Amino acid sequence: MATVEGLSARYANFLVHPLLPGTGVCQVCRGPAKPGCPACWQCHEARRILGSGVADAVVPLSLSLKNEQYANELWRYKNTAGPQRQYFRMGLAAVLWRFLVLHEGCLAAHCAVPGFDVVTTVPSTSGREGHPLRTMVAEMVGVTRDRHRDLLTPTPDAATLARAASASRYTSSVLWGESVLLIDDTWTTGHHVQSAAAALKASGAGSVAAVVLGRHLNTTYGDTATHVERARLRRFSWDACAVRPWSHA
Ligand SMILES: [Zn+2]
Ligand SMILES: [Zn+2]
Repeated sequence: MATVEGLSARYANFLVHPLLPGTGVCQVCRGPAKPGCPACWQCHEARRILGSGVADAVVPLSLSLKNEQYANELWRYKNTAGPQRQYFRMGLAAVLWRFLVLHEGCLAAHCAVPGFDVVTTVPSTSGREGHPLRTMVAEMVGVTRDRHRDLLTPTPDAATLARAASASRYTSSVLWGESVLLIDDTWTTGHHVQSAAAALKASGAGSVAAVVLGRHLNTTYGDTATHVERARLRRFSWDACAVRPWSHA
């Protein structure tokens, strides 16, 4: 019988822990930041535009490196057909499940909430029906499916906003202070996730924490290769905490 541990096991060969916040590392998305700057340009922009609407915590499960295995899987689970697509969906659902079992409590503690009442996903603004990430969170992942709610809807403006962070990209169902765990697959600029967080907060969410499967980086861009080489020095372990600088082992 397929188990979460079995289905996720092979990912330990190629997942890469993001660097912990510090010099040269964005304290929001863990991508490269200019020395002396606490955040990268994109996260700085999101904060400037959305203010306290940005997520209270962002946790990338792994780096997702352009042209490498994990980035390819994060593309294929949406864009291939047939048994291959199902294989990648099962794998990525297991990765998310295993990660949340180990670290969701750490994330809640980090946000100073007892837990997350609701789990939702960032909807596609391209209008893809039945987004596969939603299927994973709402149906496949055992620790999220009972808490899943479809909260967010892209606005008619969403398509024209390109990737910009905007408080008018999404609308959310009304909330009454519930803490929300917001899941997305790939973080490139982070502007979709942050716009979604802002919509949730504007509609009454309490704390909003974002978990993204992959922090996308292109190692041919600027000094990203050096950043990634530093990250690779830390061997991947499921027990290494994504929120605090310790291991659960
Ligand atoms: Zn950043
Ligand atoms: Zn942890």
